[in-house]
Amino acid sequence: MYLVSATDMLQKAKAGHYAVGQFNINNLEWTKAILETAEELKSPVILGVSEGAAKYMGGYNVVVNMVNGLLKDQNISVPVALHLDHGTFEGVYKALNAGFSSIMFDGSHYGIEENIEKTTQVIKDCHAKGVSVEAEVGAIGGEEDGVVGMGECADPDECKQIADLGVDFLAAGIGNIHGVYPANWAGLSFETLDAIQQKTGIMPLVLHGGSGIPNEMVKKAITLGVSKVNVNTECQLAFAAATREYIEAGKDKVGKGFDPRKVLAPGYQAIKATVKEKMELFGSVGKA
Ligand SMILES: [Zn+2]
Repeated sequence: MYLVSATDMLQKAKAGHYAVGQFNINNLEWTKAILETAEELKSPVILGVSEGAAKYMGGYNVVVNMVNGLLKDQNISVPVALHLDHGTFEGVYKALNAGFSSIMFDGSHYGIEENIEKTTQVIKDCHAKGVSVEAEVGAIGGEEDGVVGMGECADPDECKQIADLGVDFLAAGIGNIHGVYPANWAGLSFETLDAIQQKTGIMPLVLHGGSGIPNEMVKKAITLGVSKVNVNTECQLAFAAATREYIEAGKDKVGKGFDPRKVLAPGYQAIKATVKEKMELFGSVGKA
């Protein structure tokens, strides 16, 4: 199976009232754990790569070749999109040229006019290569690779303006934030989400910062038009906890327990368990 754009899988998800998970990757173990789980559960999946993660892994070409290699050697048959997460205007073109199949251009920190101008250009160049485009309206709170937002709610009219440019799916702030949610978090604004869906119709909507939103809120958001949920922090926390447990139990000091393949194994299984739980919650199991 080759990489596919995310357009088709998200249109099907919107029509079928479920969501496809975007799981961010950081290395080979992360990627293999997510692909293996998607294949086992027969779920479509989106691999998210932030610019920071692409740099960490060695560059966009490394990422594309690693993912394509896994698709082939692991006989992955479910639809897989490789998606740039929160791309800058420059990052979009690096990812596009390397072979990403889906792109998020995050122009939310520009004024609406400049966001429109740059998004229009990105759509034209991505669609020429069959690559899907996600745009963002209204900054999403928390920190994403140094871009800090305050968790605002997007203006539904601006959402329609951006949607009408021809984007394939739209991220809109509805009170969600990136990272770990604070105890005093006000929750999602379903009123805003509903207003955005009314204006944008069949356009699949994206929920960022999906880690830590209570399950019932995620389910309700899916009924109101969310077709893609981004999960990042939750996999990181699961990986770190499982790895800490291994080290604290002194298992690295027993026999060949220091073998990196053994050290990373509990974290690998923890990512798989987290991805499975999310795919079940989002309703994408068996939809590939
Ligand atoms: Zn995000």
